[in-house]
Amino acid sequence: MEARFALLPGDGIGPEVISEARRVLEAVADVAGHRFSFTEYAIGGCAIDDHGVALPEATLEGARSADAILLGAVGGPRWSDPLASSRPEDGLLAIRSELGLFANVRPVRTQPQLADAAPRKREIIEDVDSLFFRELTGGIYFGGSTTTSEGATVADHMRSSVHEIERIVRLAAEAARHRRGELTSVDKANVLAVSRLWRSVADRVMSEEFPDVEFETVLVDAMAMHLLSRPRDFDVVVTGNLFGDILTDEASMLPGSMGMLASASLGASGPGLFEPIHGSAPDIAGTGTANPLAMILAAAMALEHSLGLTDESIRIHRAVDVVLDAGIRTPDIAAGGPVVSTVEMGTAVVEALDRTTS
Ligand code: NAD
Repeated sequence: MEARFALLPGDGIGPEVISEARRVLEAVADVAGHRFSFTEYAIGGCAIDDHGVALPEATLEGARSADAILLGAVGGPRWSDPLASSRPEDGLLAIRSELGLFANVRPVRTQPQLADAAPRKREIIEDVDSLFFRELTGGIYFGGSTTTSEGATVADHMRSSVHEIERIVRLAAEAARHRRGELTSVDKANVLAVSRLWRSVADRVMSEEFPDVEFETVLVDAMAMHLLSRPRDFDVVVTGNLFGDILTDEASMLPGSMGMLASASLGASGPGLFEPIHGSAPDIAGTGTANPLAMILAAAMALEHSLGLTDESIRIHRAVDVVLDAGIRTPDIAAGGPVVSTVEMGTAVVEALDRTTS
């Protein structure tokens, strides 16, 4: 198969981890007989520096015409001036919105090999296997903000529509049908009007269209607690933009590091966008210590979701398992043991690919 990847490395550790994902994809193409091509485009802070905007037109066009988009991360202290007219994160919000990417899908799985490196106890995090669906086009990130003329009061507006809630709940419920058949919807319906709409739409969709899926609703504050005390109980979780952002970062502490979790942003049609859940990690950028596995697993999601190459995706997962079984660790997952660099971790996955079969 021929496939075109748009690579958007971004800022901080983004370029470091994306080049390892590219090497892994090239190796997969070699062993499976595919032809993958890669074109890099600017996004985020580096795009502001070079083009004056966080999402240049050429990046958007390149992303639109690709089969799958891989994004590293955007942002950093250099571009954090609150008075700046353009911020790196604007690029991320804009590309999601321009491409109609409404669903952010984040698997949260714990790896048995890392149980002792994770901050939570082994007996709590063992066998966690959840799939989070975060609504990406609504909520407080897209409601706009108002400031009084004196600047004494600022308000961010949370908004949501029936259509947005219906389509993400349906997608999550479909996924639940192919897993344990359990869906948890997370909201704050006891306080927020947007959440009350969310709950009534979710209740209706589930009772009318998915009576076979076990369905529960949980308040977001309780969910934050349950994720740390009984994470194994959750199969598929669906929630809004803000709550999904925060809960999945919290959930990343179950496997042990932000450097282990990938995500896919999907729309009704067109290419998906695949990225690690972590940011640009300016504190370690340039040190060669970033864990590239989240980005590599994001590439595996791209093969599965955008190209239908499920066997090749499984092959990457197996290679990552082989590497972890062999005790190869970047500092974030090393628990004080010996460590390898970002590039060495990428090389280990590439070499392990040769030893795995799909
Ligand atoms: P972060 O995810 O960049 O880093 C949080 C912590 O996790 C840091 O200590 C970092 O060193 C560590 N970490 C993250 N990824 C790692 C990896 N692959 N390997 C090893 N350690 C890793 O979050 P932050 O520090 O709050 O944000 C830094 C910048 O990233 C900010 O500008 C923020 O806006 C941006 N950000 C971007 C995205 C994105 O591009 N999707 C997401 C979140 C944050």
